[in-house]
Amino acid sequence: MSAFAPLVGEPLALDLVNTRFAQGDFLATPEDLCAWLVLQGDRCPEVLPGSVGLAELAAVQCIRECAAQAIDCARRGFPLRQEDVEAVNRVVRGAPCVLELVANAEGISSSRRRLGSTAERLAAWLAESLVELLTDPALLRIRQCEAEDCVLLFLPSNPRRRWCSPSRCGNRMRVARHYQRHKAE
Ligand SMILES: [Zn+2]
Repeated sequence: MSAFAPLVGEPLALDLVNTRFAQGDFLATPEDLCAWLVLQGDRCPEVLPGSVGLAELAAVQCIRECAAQAIDCARRGFPLRQEDVEAVNRVVRGAPCVLELVANAEGISSSRRRLGSTAERLAAWLAESLVELLTDPALLRIRQCEAEDCVLLFLPSNPRRRWCSPSRCGNRMRVARHYQRHKAE
């Protein structure tokens, strides 16, 4: 993985927060958002190509701000800010999921879909992932990458994991430490 690609594969709400990193923002333009949604693959709700614009970007950035605040508080055992709780709930209510009845030549079936505009659906999908993460006891295991210039968060499945990713931070920190050790000798 390139150091200049978003970190993905963590719980979705962490992937979202991790798009803003020490040196910049992977969700700065609608094109960035499109690319990030593609990286999310099957996790991503169906979004029509070309329907991601400034409104969608603003909605996603807004829930990202909430997610960053809330995760930071919750993983350190602090109470959530009421304004963040209200914002998350406003967003999930904006695009509820419904189970609809479908009857056609093939028979009777059901179809689950989310109501609302593309911006509302994207934001609700992300907000629900935040609700899931904040209510998961695993929240307390979330770590920040140990590289001093890296703010990325991850949920380690291996307790010895120290870096957001080996290719992004693990290798360069090992190289830096090796260099320092030899310089000191
Ligand atoms: Zn890192």
